[in-house]
Amino acid sequence: MKILVINCGSSSLKYQLLNMIDESVIAKGLVERINLEGSMLTHKAKGQVFEFKEQIKNHSEAIKLVLNALTSEETGVIKSISEINAFGHRYVHGGEYNSAKIVNDEVMKELKENVELAPLHAPANIIGIEACQQIAKDIPNVVVFDTAFHQTMPKKAYMYAIPQHFYTEYKIRKYGFHGTSHKFVSEEAAKLMGKDIKDTKIITCHIGNGASISAINGGKCVDTTMGFTPLAGVMMGTRSGDLDPSIIEHIMKKTGWNIQETTQFLNKQCGLLGVSGFSSDSRDITEALKTNENAKLAMEMMDYTITKHVASYAGVLNGVDAIVFTAGIGENSPELREDVLDNLTYLGLEYDKKLNAETVRKPATELSTKNSKVKVYVIPTNEELVIARETKEILKI
Ligand code: AMP
Repeated sequence: MKILVINCGSSSLKYQLLNMIDESVIAKGLVERINLEGSMLTHKAKGQVFEFKEQIKNHSEAIKLVLNALTSEETGVIKSISEINAFGHRYVHGGEYNSAKIVNDEVMKELKENVELAPLHAPANIIGIEACQQIAKDIPNVVVFDTAFHQTMPKKAYMYAIPQHFYTEYKIRKYGFHGTSHKFVSEEAAKLMGKDIKDTKIITCHIGNGASISAINGGKCVDTTMGFTPLAGVMMGTRSGDLDPSIIEHIMKKTGWNIQETTQFLNKQCGLLGVSGFSSDSRDITEALKTNENAKLAMEMMDYTITKHVASYAGVLNGVDAIVFTAGIGENSPELREDVLDNLTYLGLEYDKKLNAETVRKPATELSTKNSKVKVYVIPTNEELVIARETKEILKI
């Protein structure tokens, strides 16, 4: 039983072919720079890395190339695409869908209606689905939404303090993102605690280039930091996170930028990159901490916004059993974890500093000590596995 998980970005396509009998990865890879100069496919299979450098004009060509790589004699792992039981697509914005969906005409129509909610990401997701439908008519497509896990938030958490018809007419509400990741690591944390997830209060910190934090009570999300779009919440690699909305008008007046330029600026030129002035990558920032004041400030600000949200979610949950760090920075930056955790000792939290310093690119690790009242875990996320599991479940295969 094999599922091909597909994650289309605006100019990229990541994929993983999973064997769902044992949840192992058979092959994976990345198509980069679609419709740009220097496009290529990097395909990892049979313990080797294969590179295909050629012009790839669109996502449809990218998918054809991936399917060729998966089936060709030299690089392939299956004899024909009919061995693939389903395509599982990562889909950024599912509006108010609370679970994955099998793609049919009606679902496709609703996805297209919701494109305006995620104009940067959704068009590429749709092209990816349509390309699969064209190339492999008999293989079902399932969409798994980044937003679905957060649909359990109560109204008081997801509504903004504006007249309610802005929600009913314009769909303006908090949706939240990275849902598959928050779901995966909270379930893993419950397993590590040896508890039924229904009896747990967990705060998950997905800190990568994009970052969000969720408060999860009994396995259900009750609040999350990203909002109507992934621009909200904590400070990120290139995104500002929360700021006073009046700043937007002021920036526009001062710079002469239009609204698109200003939104682009807040998404692409702010966060670690904007404050440090030289990099959005936390590795560069950490390296420069001792010599560069701007790097120091950028890191301090990011850690501070994360600490504030974790602490507020301990209040939202009226207590917390476990705090989980995941994604590129959460899994690999002991400095960030230390900054955050050292401000949470009032919760009765204790952790092993040496173990924290050593926990970089490791499997799931518990950082908390025996006496700690709150468990602390670093858990590598696995969004592809969640997508494949949900695809399998909904298709009952
Ligand atoms: P993600 O979006 O989850 O892929 O995370 C990407 C980010 O993880 C990069 O921008 C880096 O800042 C960060 N990252 C990856 N490896 C490390 C590391 N060893 N130390 C600190 N940050 C890292």
